Amino acid sequence: MQNHDAVLVVGSVAFDDLEMPQGTFDGVLGGAATYSSLAASLYAPVRIVGVVGDDFPAEHVELLRGRGIDTTGLERVAGKTFRWRGRYSADLSSRTTLDTQLNVFADFHPKIPAAHRSTPFVLLGNIHPQLQLEVVQQVERPRLVAADTMNLWIGSEPKALGELLKKVDLLIINDEEARELSGVQNLCKAAKDIHKRGPRQLIIKRGEHGALLFDEHGIFFVPAYPLEEVHDPTGAGDSFAGGLIGYLARLGGPASSPHTMRKAMFHAAAMGSFCVEEVGPRRIERLVQADLSKRLDLFRALVDFGGDLVA
Ligand code: AMP
Repeated sequence: MQNHDAVLVVGSVAFDDLEMPQGTFDGVLGGAATYSSLAASLYAPVRIVGVVGDDFPAEHVELLRGRGIDTTGLERVAGKTFRWRGRYSADLSSRTTLDTQLNVFADFHPKIPAAHRSTPFVLLGNIHPQLQLEVVQQVERPRLVAADTMNLWIGSEPKALGELLKKVDLLIINDEEARELSGVQNLCKAAKDIHKRGPRQLIIKRGEHGALLFDEHGIFFVPAYPLEEVHDPTGAGDSFAGGLIGYLARLGGPASSPHTMRKAMFHAAAMGSFCVEEVGPRRIERLVQADLSKRLDLFRALVDFGGDLVA
């Protein structure tokens, strides 16, 4: 497989126990790298890097391979797979982490296979910023490094995160994280502060209220697609990131035109919207190009105001 348009995704591969208003689902395939890889695989060749335990079923690896995802960098070691348990509020708008068992993740250091070190598009899923830095040190001049992080690392590892941010082109975080990272409440001002720390492109996700892109071309907004049926928001942010980087990889990069990133925002939002339609990554797993095209048409209709705003 050629290197020129591939995506390297590093992050958690997990079993999730999900306490939802409609019932509890135990041992669902999850993890940020799983969702992002599945979403990106619709666009570009994907290489996943992560770790699982010897309890991780071969079917899950086969599922990833079936979507064309290269699993050479998915280590299998003795022990239990990372496990996360979360409980959602009745309206699914918030969740509480009930338990995080690092298991085999506790001693994990990402090892990028030699053949994957020149992958041009790199997505650093939400893991310890020191591990994200280890990935950056192993890859060779990628065209784009995108990263996610979370409150845990913003609070506990500011130094490592600060170092990482200097090496990241695109940071994808939610509004709460942007406020915590910058120490500023207003998101426009928070974005300015974050740009100064390194990333020239910043996406601030706001769940069902859409996402904002702050880059050298200004501010751009993409809504979340309004769905009647939302079953499970787990992984929506990771699917968003996977759709975004997958689309950029398919085009060969974030071109100087502002429109490339703006279109990528719609692909990202489309992937997020598919993700929430079923429990776990099931919807993303079987997504085909025709589904994506239909959803993009709906997005276009959603924001089409018929031309000039003044006339
Ligand atoms: P999202 O809903 O996009 O925030 O992603 C949820 C996924 O992140 C779940 O599938 C979890 O397995 C995974 N996850 C939860 N907590 C962590 C953590 N501390 N480190 C890495 N992955 C995590």
